[in-house]
Amino acid sequence: MFDPLPESYIALLPEVESFLSQTVKLYINGQYVDSLSGETFETIDPSTGKRLALVQRGKAQDVDNAVKAARAEFDGGAWWRTMSPTDRSKCLWRLAELIERHGDELAQLDSLDNGKPLKTTRSVDIPLSAEHLYYYAGWPTKIEGSTIPINERGMFNYTLREPVGVVGLIVPWNYPLLMAMWKLAPCLAAGNCVILKPAEQTPLSAVYLARLTQEAGFPPGVFNVVSGYGEEAGAALVAHHGVDKIGFTGSSEVARKIVQGSIGNLKRVSLELGGKAPNIVFADADIDKAIVGSTWAIFGNNGQSCTAGARLYIQRPVFDRVIEGMAAETKKIVVGPGMNVVQPNLGPVVNDEQLTRILGFVTEAESGGARAVTGGGRIGGGLQDGYFVEPTIFVDARDDMRIAREEIFGPVVCAMPFDHVGEIVARANDTDYGLAAGLWTNDLRKAHALARALRAGTIWINTWGNTEASSPFGGFKQSGYGREMGKEAIDLYTEVKSVWVKYE
Ligand code: ADP
Repeated sequence: MFDPLPESYIALLPEVESFLSQTVKLYINGQYVDSLSGETFETIDPSTGKRLALVQRGKAQDVDNAVKAARAEFDGGAWWRTMSPTDRSKCLWRLAELIERHGDELAQLDSLDNGKPLKTTRSVDIPLSAEHLYYYAGWPTKIEGSTIPINERGMFNYTLREPVGVVGLIVPWNYPLLMAMWKLAPCLAAGNCVILKPAEQTPLSAVYLARLTQEAGFPPGVFNVVSGYGEEAGAALVAHHGVDKIGFTGSSEVARKIVQGSIGNLKRVSLELGGKAPNIVFADADIDKAIVGSTWAIFGNNGQSCTAGARLYIQRPVFDRVIEGMAAETKKIVVGPGMNVVQPNLGPVVNDEQLTRILGFVTEAESGGARAVTGGGRIGGGLQDGYFVEPTIFVDARDDMRIAREEIFGPVVCAMPFDHVGEIVARANDTDYGLAAGLWTNDLRKAHALARALRAGTIWINTWGNTEASSPFGGFKQSGYGREMGKEAIDLYTEVKSVWVKYE
């Protein structure tokens, strides 16, 4: 089913080879099945542009079957939501252990599918996915209601926190397993039944995960995977009246379609969307640390991260020093196939469409007067068949240019000088987005003042990109609504019920 991989690639594990050698199925009601239409689609290895796997193409009828299975379990079987909290914890914990045990297979699948280096999937994507489950495995025994003081005599009132029901989770391709797990772990911990729609570019690890849920003891119907295109499988899930909630991570553009598509049954929707994070370097910062931190703030995961530090504001006295330092750091970055024997720092961008989009931004920026101090093009030579982009730093950009306003989702940063604190807060906040922001300074008062003044869901001070399962994450403004992670994600996947008891 898959084209031979280049000889320079790390050898595939036998399980991965066998997984790729067959059509990758859907997973509905505890069984691997073909799509009802019998149609398939290809996923591509972004490092070579060649076919990686054939995947069953889920459409509305398949979504309907998955929703029926999830509904039957939630409304009828109800093992999952009524099992003892400890038993549910154990299932989640076992799944986390299985992810660790099969971490090498999952890492290979995500590296092949997404292109990112195997050392990254092995050290970041997969271990963090397991960590999310370990964290939320602790929650089923702690999902509590409260007792409410009531004025009326002889009346007792308390609240219950209950699962929302059947939840559709629609996730992107930038961290295939991890983005799914950000949602799955709290959603399952709360007792919901799930239909996961992975991104069409990167469905493999989600389908592989299904087998692990079986082994972990999840009842049929609790976890379903319907791979397919956004406008087919995704839209059908969003519109389905048997779905109580959609949890979505992706672009703001698709989010608008999701909000519109969900109105039929007024399902709950939570949205984790894009960003154009301001990264502010003050002259009083530890400049060497700010240089390395700001380089990876944008180029980490190849800029394919909604929290990428894509708008770099540098205080004028240190502007040239920071840019020279970042250019030197950037030149050290090795780009190459994620599965290469000699591991690169960064892989390709995910597909042809992204490549074209990113290069379009670059060309437009240059014609608008911005200047690339490093990068600025596609990488050719031995990498010409893949979707490789040079990490690019622009100077001479302006706040009103498209590269400074729109999410590029690629390894491109625009650096602009600033003079005063007052000025920079207004410029940093002048955006439709509000997912993350960061600053580098040794002035404690400035750091805390800006943490309050910047309008974003996450603020990083003298660091960038940290997330942990225990700390809430989400956006202000058009970066979405709802908070994932921490106890906030339990709120996101539960409903509150108020119970009144007359006892006199
Ligand atoms: P990105 O810009 O990161 O590719 P998208 O927002 O395009 O993100 O896609 C994120 C997820 O949303 C993917 O799983 C994709 O298939 C899905 N999707 C795309 N279009 C729709 C749609 N109209 N309805 C529901 N899901 C969609």
